[in-house]
Amino acid sequence: MNTFDQFRKKTRTWLEENCPPGARGPGPFHTGSSKIPLAHPDLDIWLERMVQKGWSVPTWPKEYGGAALTSKEYVALLEEMKALGARPPLINRGTTMVGPTILEFGNEEQKKRILPIIARGEGAWCQGYSEPGAGSDLASLLTTAVPDGDRYLINGQKIWTSDGHTSEWMFILVRTGVIEPKHEGISFFILNMNQPGVDTRPIQLISGGSHFCETFFDNAVADKRDMVGELNKGWTVGKRLLQHERSGMEMLVSGSTGQRQSNVVDVARKYCGEENDRITKQFRDPVISYEMNARALKLTQRRIVEESTDGKTPGAATSIMKVVSTDLEKMQTELMTSLRGTQGYGWEGNGFTQAELDGTRQFLRSRAASIYSGSNEIQRNIIAKRVLGLPD
Ligand SMILES: Cc1cc2nc3c(=O)[nH]c(=O)nc-3n(C[C@H](O)[C@H](O)[C@H](O)COP(=O)(O)OP(=O)(O)OC[C@H]3O[C@@H](n4cnc5c(N)ncnc54)[C@H](O)[C@@H]3O)c2cc1C
Repeated sequence: MNTFDQFRKKTRTWLEENCPPGARGPGPFHTGSSKIPLAHPDLDIWLERMVQKGWSVPTWPKEYGGAALTSKEYVALLEEMKALGARPPLINRGTTMVGPTILEFGNEEQKKRILPIIARGEGAWCQGYSEPGAGSDLASLLTTAVPDGDRYLINGQKIWTSDGHTSEWMFILVRTGVIEPKHEGISFFILNMNQPGVDTRPIQLISGGSHFCETFFDNAVADKRDMVGELNKGWTVGKRLLQHERSGMEMLVSGSTGQRQSNVVDVARKYCGEENDRITKQFRDPVISYEMNARALKLTQRRIVEESTDGKTPGAATSIMKVVSTDLEKMQTELMTSLRGTQGYGWEGNGFTQAELDGTRQFLRSRAASIYSGSNEIQRNIIAKRVLGLPD
């Protein structure tokens, strides 16, 4: 048996022995947040065990909390986790967005101090980019950071901060230069959310939920040592983070372990039945088309994982992933709603199963997918300019 086969075998055995029942099968992930009650005590046990192996961030260097797995080993680990139904031990914006960004742009002190905190899941992370006057045109942001001895004082407002009220940490883009052209006066900071100068106000959604917030800063304090990259060069850092976000890495990791709630083929079987020829014919083509595209996307995501763990960084092409994956997500929820017929439009009441009620909310939520992380119109602009090289 070669070294790689041995790695796979050992991994399988270890996962079987160490993944507790409450961390197997569909269900919630650990986010690292201390502000959300843990769905099951096994999630803590699972995280702790995986952290000891360096497998909460398997490809990161060992000195920063990872296990320095090669891309081949990482893919094998994901495959073995999927086979067992083991959930990822930790999913948050630390592991998938700001961690990889610090690995590239952070200094050694930041890497040694911040990356292990992320790897151990000590807190959840939120993203402080958008403002009331700065969405697609993000570089128009007005929240300021002004030096004050060893620290910066931050004042202003962010909006649409997903999970702001349940996060311990924020990565934030702030204006540090006022005379420079707007892209050149921006810096990137790490900020502790648990301080008096930060106020999060959840935005109530029509569904009754509220997963994002308005976030206000009134002399909030960020240490000078928490500026990632150089003063006024945060635009480059912030853009790279978005490329990590758009790469679909999080989807690959969470999806690889069978957590995607719904499966179009299962829904088609349940609601159409093979005997109902008319309905089967009506939906056959769209279901097949969806399945083929979804599989192609997964393979492409896997290629990106392999490339990114072999030392390459994601680039403008991640905008393609963002557009394709979010269009597919919308296609999936539309298709499932149609397949369910009138059962696909339930909001409440005994006439609907929980899966049907969840499906309605999933359909509505999927509308947001082509807006967050930079709208798909903006991604198409990036693809035209940066990938295809078309003129402005
Ligand atoms: C569910 C959800 C979660 C989010 N979470 C976060 C978060 O955690 N942190 C954070 O900072 N932000 C977050 N956002 C905000 C998100 O990044 C912005 O909504 C997005 O960048 C668009 O900005 P905007 O809403 O201001 O729309 P606008 O910029 O006002 O755009 C409005 C419309 O005009 C189009 N448009 C604008 N400019 C152009 C152009 N040049 N060419 C073509 N079309 C254009 C856009 O595509 C869009 O359709 C979230 C948004 C959603 C929906």
